[in-house]
Amino acid sequence: MLVAASSVFAFAAVSLVPWQTTLLFDTAIAAAASTAAMAAAALALARHFSADDRATLLIGLGLLGAGLLHAVYALVAVSGFDSRGSLDAVTFMDWTGFASRFWLSLFLYGSWLVTRHTEALGRVSSGTIGACAIAVITLVAIGLVLMPLPRIDTPGFLVTRPLEMLPATFFALTLFGYLHKGEWQRDRFERLLSVGVLLACFGEVSLIFLSRSPTDAFFGLAQLIQLSVYGLLVAALVSTATRAFAEVQSLDEKRRRDAIELANAREGLEAFMRSASHDLKAPLRHIFAFSKLIRDEAADRLTEREVADLERVMGAASHMSNLLESLLRFTRLGAPSRIREEVSLNELLETVVALLPVEDQSRVVVDAPLLDIRGDQALLTIVLQNLIENGLKYVDDDRSIVTVTSTSSSSGTTVSVDDNGIGVASKHSKRIFDPGVRAVSDSDFEGTGFGLATCARIIQAHDGRIWLESKPEGGSIFRFTIPG
Ligand code: ADP
Repeated sequence: MLVAASSVFAFAAVSLVPWQTTLLFDTAIAAAASTAAMAAAALALARHFSADDRATLLIGLGLLGAGLLHAVYALVAVSGFDSRGSLDAVTFMDWTGFASRFWLSLFLYGSWLVTRHTEALGRVSSGTIGACAIAVITLVAIGLVLMPLPRIDTPGFLVTRPLEMLPATFFALTLFGYLHKGEWQRDRFERLLSVGVLLACFGEVSLIFLSRSPTDAFFGLAQLIQLSVYGLLVAALVSTATRAFAEVQSLDEKRRRDAIELANAREGLEAFMRSASHDLKAPLRHIFAFSKLIRDEAADRLTEREVADLERVMGAASHMSNLLESLLRFTRLGAPSRIREEVSLNELLETVVALLPVEDQSRVVVDAPLLDIRGDQALLTIVLQNLIENGLKYVDDDRSIVTVTSTSSSSGTTVSVDDNGIGVASKHSKRIFDPGVRAVSDSDFEGTGFGLATCARIIQAHDGRIWLESKPEGGSIFRFTIPG
């Protein structure tokens, strides 16, 4: 409404003022229009490259072409028309002005088309579209400079510039399209763009119906309107860029706050776990100690069944104590260090094997020297230790062996720990990596269910992957991959 009212006011004012444009005025307007259009084009293309949005690519190319045509006019005008003889200043200005408006209107309409039909440009790359547009606009500019140009206006007729109907139609279609799309009510960029296109339509009205010659006030007004359209587009693009920047900043701020909150929560959880495990372990120690005392001191007065019950109480107390210890260790692993050093798997394995009971050490086999990997040596030792100890633990007899191998591929180095033990039923193969989950009963095998969860968390912190493969002949293969 405001745009319409001010345009009508401007038309009325201009019709009362006896104003004639001059070559200097035209040249100054063309130079300013070229600068504004180029600035808007740069902003639109920057937005396109950051968001890969086809609509802003077309808007940018439209503005670039229009800016180039204004620049060509300004340069030719500055270099002097008189020396060029055949080239008439007014006609040349009329043609470059028309070409810039037609070019811009076509690309703005194209920008609306691609928002409605996203596949309209198919797989054509932005580079190809840009190169074609620049080649065409360069040819147009050369053609305008070199070819003899007829007068564009037809004085005396109601429609003084019939050719202007072309940009007028495309501007009107673009305006209708964007308004119909409805996004302008929410999106500031589309709102300012629509206002710009509406202004351009008023400029066309001034040129087609009101201006009688390329030097009259209506023609000058149309040029000023065209300059304002570029100004509006610059404002629209700057405002979206500022908003995007503010959004990124607030996102960063939110992320920083989230990280602090997370660190506080983790610290709180760890403190809670420390005190809980300390407070719970003390009574457990008493339960264990007193049960043991009764069993030892009163063994002659107790039945066999009572001794067995007491031993069950002791077993449960020590199991719970282990469980608390594992839980605490697992919680401490909240933010594993991100050290990336060259780790020799051979040395790592030697360390792990040395920690095993002597009778188990020969049950760990390596077929070929292992590869080196990049990661946190201390944490990777925990992983290998857990996997090897499990391979030796979950077996029917003590003769089973664990084989460690490593392979390299494009996704990194994969380490495999292969055993011929009891295996894991496929329904448990994913869940066993969750904290506290076991696929065997506590009475058959001791454990707390935190070993594999710890491994999974460590491998995750290395951006790797850990998984289980069951062997049809029995046994399991645990594999983990660490990116190279
Ligand atoms: P824990 O050994 O303390 O129970 P883990 O997290 O290391 O805890 O293992 C979780 C479960 O996965 C075990 O309880 C067991 O059921 C199963 N499991 C792990 N490794 C093996 C293996 N090599 N063979 C068979 N079962 C396994």
